[in-house]
Amino acid sequence: MRKFSVLNREEDISAAVEKHYDLIVVGGGVTGAGIALDASSRGLATLLLEKKDFASGTSSKSTKLIHGGLRYLKQFEIGLVRETGTERAIVHHLAPHLVHPEKMLLPIVENGTFGKWSASIAISVYDYLAGVKPEDRKVGLTTEELLEEEPLVKAKGLNGGMMYSEYRTDDARLTMALVKAAVRHGADAYNHCALSDFLYQDGKVVGVRCIDHVQDREIEFKATHVVSAAGPWVDQIRALDGSTGGKSLHLTKGVHIVVPHKRLPINHAVYFDAFDGRMMFAIPRGRVTYVGTSDTTYAEDLDRVLCTRADAEYIIGAINNYFDVPGLGLEDVISSWAGLRPLIHEDGKSPSELSRKDEIFEAPSGLISIAGGKLTGYRKMAQRIVDLVISRRAPSNSSKCQTASLSLQEPTYPDYAAVTQHIESLAKEMKSTGLEHYHAWYLVTTYGRDADLIWSQVSEGHGAENMRSLLLEAELEHCLASESIYYPQDFLNRRTGALYFDIELVNQFQNQVTTRLGQAFDWSSSELDRILEATIQETKDCLAFLNE
Ligand SMILES: Cc1cc2nc3c(=O)[nH]c(=O)nc-3n(C[C@H](O)[C@H](O)[C@H](O)COP(=O)(O)OP(=O)(O)OC[C@H]3O[C@@H](n4cnc5c(N)ncnc54)[C@H](O)[C@@H]3O)c2cc1C
Repeated sequence: MRKFSVLNREEDISAAVEKHYDLIVVGGGVTGAGIALDASSRGLATLLLEKKDFASGTSSKSTKLIHGGLRYLKQFEIGLVRETGTERAIVHHLAPHLVHPEKMLLPIVENGTFGKWSASIAISVYDYLAGVKPEDRKVGLTTEELLEEEPLVKAKGLNGGMMYSEYRTDDARLTMALVKAAVRHGADAYNHCALSDFLYQDGKVVGVRCIDHVQDREIEFKATHVVSAAGPWVDQIRALDGSTGGKSLHLTKGVHIVVPHKRLPINHAVYFDAFDGRMMFAIPRGRVTYVGTSDTTYAEDLDRVLCTRADAEYIIGAINNYFDVPGLGLEDVISSWAGLRPLIHEDGKSPSELSRKDEIFEAPSGLISIAGGKLTGYRKMAQRIVDLVISRRAPSNSSKCQTASLSLQEPTYPDYAAVTQHIESLAKEMKSTGLEHYHAWYLVTTYGRDADLIWSQVSEGHGAENMRSLLLEAELEHCLASESIYYPQDFLNRRTGALYFDIELVNQFQNQVTTRLGQAFDWSSSELDRILEATIQETKDCLAFLNE
């Protein structure tokens, strides 16, 4: 099979401009990637275009939960909770190495969002709507039991709590798995290729004009249908088409901060009350704990969204209000991210009150746009869009939606126990080399079955420090050959997650990674300098608030 690599780009695009696609999807976040997989697996000739990197928009900046959204029950979003709740188990089955069962702790506090009875009823409804198996349903905890599970929760005003089932993921890796699965089913997919205009015939969209940032040239692709899944940029693209009538987007910013796990050493994911009536998640992951999110209206630069000092102070304040972690402050923050929710505007509603439902816009030109929704609901959103496309005009060989049973990696794991076994066997092999159990966990939960391919390329080194560098080199070669990376942050952020979860590794190796990519893509020394500077800036942006 042809490798999914920017190294093949020139040849691939020369062939693509000669094709007539059934469907072009603009936007390589989870929504666009899901649509590309659904369409290509139904037999549609599909092209996916992403202006930066796959998942570089909101789809690498979420809370990274595959969840039904307990709090949406309070807004009576029963349909949304049922759909996303049911989807959790499906997505877990499709990609067990990427979607992990996680027990969520909900402490009940005096004057909090949930009282004991309302929490118990809400989570029972939540479990029922999601079809949770009896053994995984919620469990009520006394105050003593809760403190035994999570000793850091402040005891004052505590009235027991609940433990219930959710799933944790890596949003960027999930998006990447969808893109790669779409490519396996015949789709073409290009990152760093930005839609700049539409092509029309008799007032109908018949293709797109793009800027290919890799080759620095303008190109055109032709198709019967064009769908925009551009998340926060959906209105900008509707404006290009002159079709902004009716509903519009209301963007809200959500921030997460990352601290070393030893500074907030929680045992479970905790869903807790901030001090202003909002709720937040604190989630342990490997060697860090991340906490978020804020929810504020946003109307600034969509392409550079940062955590401000006020955002970070708000989250640190909420942590200190709830957990007993003396002295936790801004200086403990090691990374952060800020993402935009593309919500649908409703007059008079605050950011937190706006619906998380998705919305489809159909323009007179034939352009279809989709925005809103959740990471968790990507598959059903994709199904609705492809059903709509097919209802307009389908190629004769198109079939029904199959994505509920299409594994996101081939070969896949039969079940979650096989993922755990894979981690343990890899950890055993790594032990003699000086690497830790963490590295086996990281490799399998990031690359799944490809972890073995990567590990087989790691030659023997001496000492853990050297081994980590050799492992990173093997990951880089793998991503260069088969995960469509071009810029260093494609690798350091979206493929490895290191920018958020292992920032020391980024600081240590960003020069080396840039140099290797420069060799691979034959960058001139001025290009190399410019790209290295941009890479370092993006790393610094994670802690930009410290300089405010
Ligand atoms: C703080 C926060 C926390 C969240 N937490 C969760 C959670 O825990 N669980 C959950 O299920 N959901 C969560 N969500 C919601 C979820 O993250 C989003 O619904 C989802 O990621 C949106 O994906 P998308 O593909 O629609 O948009 P995006 O991921 O933003 O993708 C749109 C893409 O379009 C591209 N694009 C824009 N213009 C062009 C152009 N001209 N040409 C080509 N490409 C273009 C962009 O570069 C971008 O990559 C959260 C959201 C936020 C903000």
